[in-house]
Amino acid sequence: MNNITTDCPVCRGKNTLNMTSKTEKIPYFGEIMESTLLCSDCGYKHSDTICLEQKEPVKYTLKISKDKLNTRIVKSQSATLSIPELGLKVEPGPKSQGYVSNVEGVINRFESAVATAMEWAEEKQIQENALKILEKIEELKTGNEIATLVLEDPFGHSIIVDNDAKHRKLTEEEINELNTGFMTIENE
Ligand SMILES: [Zn+2]
Repeated sequence: MNNITTDCPVCRGKNTLNMTSKTEKIPYFGEIMESTLLCSDCGYKHSDTICLEQKEPVKYTLKISKDKLNTRIVKSQSATLSIPELGLKVEPGPKSQGYVSNVEGVINRFESAVATAMEWAEEKQIQENALKILEKIEELKTGNEIATLVLEDPFGHSIIVDNDAKHRKLTEEEINELNTGFMTIENE
């Protein structure tokens, strides 16, 4: 684990920005570096994971259910994650972060995004729709619901570490269709 302090680019604090980084070997994938920036003064925080090897554009799909909650996932900044059955998708944007997590962690991130959207929604239709999605997410985590987790990364710096995960190279067309944008929550 590496640890250095430097000046903060946000608040310009002197030596207030703490950078930690560590490398980790992911089986069948290669070495990744996880880094976190944290300013002790203004609270600025950013984390990312970088794959240290050249990779091909890739698409992973995995049927997820409560039995798959512990499956590890490396999601880079450039990856698009979606659960088509729930109409959920998170696309890379200026604020997107890379992280190492598992299926449960990914589902929890979707869950809190939907809950936030529901809170802000003014239309009843959107609120009802969000509530339905939240119920399905709960079923996915504790009940018998099955859905598909899709991970697409034009730089190939992401992986779903599971023998049941299918993966193939993204086509040129698919790469062009991948957006860079903010979180979108699509209606069914
Ligand atoms: Zn700062």
